[in-house]
Formats: sequence, structure tokens, C-alpha cells
Amino acid sequence: MKLHEYQSKELLERFGVVVPRGEVTSDPDEARRIAAGFGGKCVVKAQVLMGGRGKAGGVKLFESADDAATFTKELIGKRLVSIQNPAGMVVEKVLVGELVDIAEEYYLSVLLDRAEQRLVVMISKEGGMDIEEVAEKHPDAIVRLHVDPAWGVADFEVRDAVIRAGIPGPAQRQMVAMIKGLIKAYEESDADLVEINPVAWTPEGKLIAADAKVSIDDNALFRHADYEATKDDSADDPLEAEATRLGIAYVRLGGEIGVIGNGAGLVMCSLDEVSAAGGKAANFLDVGGGAGAERVKTCVELVLKDPNVKGLLINIFGGITRGDLVAEGILGAFEQLDVQVPVVARVEGTAADKALEMLAGSKIVGAQTMQEAAQKIVELTRG
Ligand code: GDP
Ligand code: MN
Repeated sequence: MKLHEYQSKELLERFGVVVPRGEVTSDPDEARRIAAGFGGKCVVKAQVLMGGRGKAGGVKLFESADDAATFTKELIGKRLVSIQNPAGMVVEKVLVGELVDIAEEYYLSVLLDRAEQRLVVMISKEGGMDIEEVAEKHPDAIVRLHVDPAWGVADFEVRDAVIRAGIPGPAQRQMVAMIKGLIKAYEESDADLVEINPVAWTPEGKLIAADAKVSIDDNALFRHADYEATKDDSADDPLEAEATRLGIAYVRLGGEIGVIGNGAGLVMCSLDEVSAAGGKAANFLDVGGGAGAERVKTCVELVLKDPNVKGLLINIFGGITRGDLVAEGILGAFEQLDVQVPVVARVEGTAADKALEMLAGSKIVGAQTMQEAAQKIVELTRG
């Protein structure tokens, strides 16, 4: 779950990372008051969970509190669109921060290197721009420092990495401290990403996190009840956000064949079969164990909300989940939703015979095997 910049900064500050002063608000008058506290010199930043806010017009520097208030008024309720997020997100809050004088911009992040089975700290003196762009244009400008989960990392290793990254002498000591703070923050708050871009180096020789991005591992959210409350609006994708609210495991994949199954393994097999049959899956959706008719209906409804979906594949292996209840859900959804796309259902296991009997009179095409179901839905979608 992604945290907003202001939440990320609060979290990092608890681990000794230096962040600018600032307050969050959705009220222009409040913004004026906060800005005035900084003598008018401030930065107003849209608090939306997407990258590239600067380029999208969501970050502006000001010299007067009145200008900051005017910009806040403009920003609240506005939809920001970026290359990373073409659908855009509506601004509900802004962070009004003290203006940091920036001489140089560096980059820092901590994430999991799955292949190495260790944390990796990425350090670059080319901050400010997209790290993907840096990786492409100047791959040598990114230094990677691995952190062993059992042993941690020694100070001299951090110092060495900072020097290799070309961070200038006067900034090195503060950079080492910031990196150690980030690693601690990552580990102790169950993060799966901590990123500061840019790390600002001021003309006075102070290193400060001008931006911050922290994401908490969803599987550890139960240990962070304060963040869990805001979980649903943290997804970039509106359908994924809706699924989270409904407690449904749904991931949008971008293809044209909607997929619904029970059990993550069976759903992944179904995705593979769709792909093998020459189609592209629109989503992953696991209805979960023991799903009843009402839940199946909700799932069908959710998948069909994706306008790319041109056909629907339902693959159920009845164990605790009863085939007949699944059939009831599918038929119920059909009745209420006026489904226009072809649907192929493969139901196997508990009460499968009854399910197929129930579906026989409908427009839903039955299939005996997963492979057959995938081939049929790909054909029907093309035709
Ligand atoms: P992002 O575009 O969503 O990553 O938002 P950032 O917080 O990184 O802001 C974009 C850019 O605005 C940064 O790269 C900085 O160059 C600039 N910026 C942000 N905060 C400040 C600040 O306090 N002072 C100055 N001078 N520039 C800032
Ligand atoms: Mn940034």
C-alpha cells in the first residue's frame, strides 16, 4: 500500500531522516496560514499517489502566502494526469512545505532484490528525474548496495557505496546517515519500497528529503492499523480499489478476456491457458474458497466493469465451493446485468453436474476442460 508523501515524510522523520517542515490541508485559507509561517516561501504539492507530479503541474514553488493559497484553490478537486498515470487522480489534499533551496538533487531508494534475496539500496547523484530514465541513459550513475537480512550492513560499506556513487565530499557523511535511516525505516515499518527523489543538497550544506515515497507491504498491514484505514484509495487503478473495498483478489492485466476462478493456482492456470489459446487475459480474479451465489455475481459484475473485456471465462473447481451455487451466481448476474459478451464456464467437482444442468438452458457455453474453455472463449471473442 502506497503512502502519501506527507505520510512518508512523517514516517521517515521518526527514523532520523531530515525532512522539510510542512503541513497538509485541503483548505486554501489554511494553506495561506501555513505558508505565512514560512514567510511565504513555500512549495505546494498535490498529495496524489502517482509519480511525476512535478511534470503534471502538481508541484509549484512560491514566494508569497497569497499565491500559495490561490494555487491550492486551483489544485483541490483537479485531476492530475501524468505519463505514469494516464487515467489521472483527483487532488484532495496538498502539502504546504517550507521552500528548500536546492543546489543539487540526488536519488536514494531501498527495495527488495528478489533474485539476490537481499535488500538493495540504490544511490545516484543524478536525482530529480525519473530513475527509469537514469537507468536507461546513465546506468553507471546508479550504485547498488546489497544489505544482508541477517548481518545488516557495515558503516564502511555504506560509505564506500556513497563514494562510488560520486556524492561530493561535504555531503557524504549526511548521506550515510540518511541511508542508514532509510534501511531502518524499511525494515521496521514493513515497507516494500522507500524512495527519496530528490534528496536535496542545499547551498548551506544540508542534506534533506525534498520528496518521499513509502509503500507498506500489504501482507503486514495488520501491524499498521493506522494506515489500513486508507488502503482502498491507495490503488492506482479504480477497479482494483473497488475490489479491495469488496475484499476480492483482483488484478487488472490489460487484455480482453475476463477471467474468474477459485483459488489463486487455478486462476493462474486459467491465465496460462488463455495465453496458450492465443488470447490475452483482462484480469486475475480469485472468488475465494466457498464462494456463494451473491459473491460470484459481485465478481462477474466487477470484471465486466472493465471496458476492454470482450469475453468472460469462468473456471471453477468445486471443493468447498459448490458448483450449483456458482451457476446460480452466474445466472443471477446475467439476469441483472444484461451481459452482452460471450461467456464460457467450466465447472468441475462438487455439484458440477447440477451446475451444468442449470447453465444448459442459458447463453453460457459449457466446457469440459480448462483447455477447451480457454480455446472456446478465445474463438468466441474473435468471432
Ligand atoms: P514528483 O514529480 O511527483 O516526484 O514530485 P517532487 O516532490 O519530486 O517534485 C518535483 C520537483 O520539484 C523536484 O524534483 C524538485 O526539483 C522540485 N521541488 C520539490 N520540492 C522543492 C523545494 O522545496 N524546493 C525546490 N527548489 N524545488 C522543489
Ligand atoms: Mn519526486
